[in-house]
Amino acid sequence: LALKVVITGPRGKMGSKVFQTLKNKDGYHIVALIDHKPEKWNEKKLSVPVFADIQSCFLETKPDVLIDFTNPTASYQFIKIAIEHQVKVISGTTGFTDEILLEINQLADQKEIGCVIAPNFALGAVLMMVFTQYAAKFFQDIALIEKHHKQKLDIPSGTADLLKRLIIEENKEINIDIKSIRAEGYIAHHEVIFGAPGQVLTLKHDSHDRKSFIHGLKLTLKEIKHIQHFIFGLENVLRI
Ligand code: NAP
Repeated sequence: LALKVVITGPRGKMGSKVFQTLKNKDGYHIVALIDHKPEKWNEKKLSVPVFADIQSCFLETKPDVLIDFTNPTASYQFIKIAIEHQVKVISGTTGFTDEILLEINQLADQKEIGCVIAPNFALGAVLMMVFTQYAAKFFQDIALIEKHHKQKLDIPSGTADLLKRLIIEENKEINIDIKSIRAEGYIAHHEVIFGAPGQVLTLKHDSHDRKSFIHGLKLTLKEIKHIQHFIFGLENVLRI
């Protein structure tokens, strides 16, 4: 049976990629798009309905899963409503506060609804997080550089923030500065620099194309039917 999917932010850089990827893919049925400016789709010949209101969308289309790449304010509302309607969630939106993440965590667990929030769906980036946490045990001097396209709203990136937290978990004494660069031509790039006398270890990951995020999203979609609670991070979906 095809997985019934609703996509939020379908005109966005990520949302449009998700739409293109799943549109004619076996095993998936896009039942609706959610857009706060539905008139933007008037000219386009679409076989999928576009809703401005998420509640009516869920009542009419009864999806299995919501895929969300928007912004933390819109996304917070979408996720809460999805859980209330027993619709599973996969969100790649970044910039949530710890309080909001905790609230969503508790809501999803209490209602036993699968809800995945992953600030980076690129497999290489999550492996870099695992390697970073391991290396952080051994170094006292660590620096973080993240580079992104100019439209990125959150500074530092969700991934850089997570890398910093993982390092501090391993090494409470450490003080890490994050350098953020926003320039044309970048997509998402992270570098963790571990310094010690006479040597430097650099872990580096580059997303040159948004295909890198779609890869992890597809891996998560394969798992979602087995997920009945809150999961933060692709690494925990894949149990890396
Ligand atoms: P984007 O191009 O700005 O797309 C966001 C889309 O959301 C826009 O089309 C926007 O519409 C729409 N939107 C905003 N408010 C809305 C609302 N209330 N209702 C419905 N739609 C709404 O951004 P992006 O690059 O795709 O990134 C989206 C999010 O994903 C960001 O938080 C980004 O950091 C994150 N991201 C995560 C990953 C990952 O691997 N997890 C990868 C890339 C990006 P308007 O244009 O009309 O405002």
